[in-house]
Amino acid sequence: MITPILPTYGRQPVAFERGEGMYLYDTDGKKYLDFYAGIGVMCLGHSHPTLVNALIEQGKKLWHTANTYQIPEGEKLAQRLVDASFADTVFFTNSGAESIECAIKMARKYHHDKGNKGRYRLVTMTSAFHGRTLAGIAAAGQEKLTKGFEPLPDGFDVVPFGDLDAVKAAIGPETAGIMVEPVQGEGGIRPLPDATLQALRKICDDEGILLVFDEIQCGMGRTGKLFAHEWAGVTPDIIAVAKGIGGGFPLGACMATEDAASGMVVGSHGSTYGGNPLAMAVGNAVLDEILAPGFLEHVVEMGDLLHARLAALMQRHSNLVTEVRGKGLMAGIRIPSIPTKEVVTDLIGRGMLPAFAGDMVVRMLPPLILDETHIDEAMETLDACLTDLAKKQT
Ligand SMILES: *Cc1c(COP(=O)(O)O)cnc(C)c1O
Repeated sequence: MITPILPTYGRQPVAFERGEGMYLYDTDGKKYLDFYAGIGVMCLGHSHPTLVNALIEQGKKLWHTANTYQIPEGEKLAQRLVDASFADTVFFTNSGAESIECAIKMARKYHHDKGNKGRYRLVTMTSAFHGRTLAGIAAAGQEKLTKGFEPLPDGFDVVPFGDLDAVKAAIGPETAGIMVEPVQGEGGIRPLPDATLQALRKICDDEGILLVFDEIQCGMGRTGKLFAHEWAGVTPDIIAVAKGIGGGFPLGACMATEDAASGMVVGSHGSTYGGNPLAMAVGNAVLDEILAPGFLEHVVEMGDLLHARLAALMQRHSNLVTEVRGKGLMAGIRIPSIPTKEVVTDLIGRGMLPAFAGDMVVRMLPPLILDETHIDEAMETLDACLTDLAKKQT
C-alpha cells in the first residue's frame, strides 16, 4: 500500500525534534553532530537567534501580500545582494529549481530580444544537478533523473565534466549559453578548476553567449566567498541561488547583470510566493550574518582546517579513502570499496550526520558557524567508523 507521503525518498529511520547550533536531537533525545545542514541549507545552524527573531517579528506583522505591490524588504535584500556581487538585478524564488528555471528562461529571452531567436540551447556538464523540474532534469541529463519522464524539453547539450574541447565542439548557432556548477554537489563534490571557469568565460565572450552558474549548493558563503565563482576571478552573466540564502526558509534567487536580464520585462516571469515579506525578512537576517565582518574569513579558516584534517584521515585510512575533494565547507571523501550509503548509515548510528553524493563520495556540508571542536568531534567519529568498517572488510 502506498504511504500517505509519496514514496519518492529513501529515508533514514530517524526523525528529529529540535536543533540547536551544530546539533540535532531526535525524538528519543539522542544528539547528532549535523554535518549535512539539511543539504547545506542551515548555513547558520539550527535555531539561530537572529533568524528566529526575524521570523517571529515579521510573523507578527505581515506574511504575504503579492508581487502586485511594493515589497520594501525585498528591495532591500535585492540591493544588498547586488552590492555584494557581480549582479545588477535579482528575481526571488522559493527553491533552487525555480531559480534554474528563471536562469534558463532569461538566457533564452536575452537572445530572442537581441534578434537571435534561434539561440536557445545551453551547454551543460555530466554528473550535474540542476533540480527536478523537467528543464532541470533535461539540463543535468542523467538517466537516473530523466528515465520515464520523457519527452524532455529540448535545448540542452550535455558534455563530459570539465571537458573544454567538448564544450567548444557543442557550441553552434543555436547555443544561448553554458550552465555549470562551479563546484558540483550531488555529482560528488567536484570543483571545476579556476582555469576551466576562466576558459568558459572566454568562450562565452568569443561566442557572444551567456555564462550561467548554478550556485545553489556552492554559493552563499559555503566555499568561503559569498559565491564560489569569485575564487576564479570570473564574472558570470546569470547565477541561480537557493539553499543557504534562506537559512532554512524556502527562498531562492536568480541574479543577473543588467545586460543578461534585458529581456525580462513586466509580464515575462513571475511567482506567487517569490520574495514575500516573510521570506525577505529571513533572507535579510541571513545576509546580516554572512556579510558580518569576519564571517567568511571564519569559513575559509574552518574549511582549510577541515580539508587538512580530512587529508590526515585519508592517510590513516588509505585502504578505504582514495580522495578528499571540495572547497571550503563543502567537502567529500571518496570511499569506492564500500557502498556509500552503508558508511553514512554507520555514521548516523554514531551520532554524526553526513550524506552521500554521487561517485561514491561521503558529503559534508556543515553549518558555516562550526568551530574547531566540531571538526575534532567529526574526525573522531569518522576515524572510529572507518576503523570498524576496515575490520569488517578483512
Ligand atoms: C539543490 C540543488 C538544486 C535544486 O534545488 P531545489 O531547491 O531542490 O529545487 C539545483 N542545483 C543544485 C546545484 C543543487 O544543489
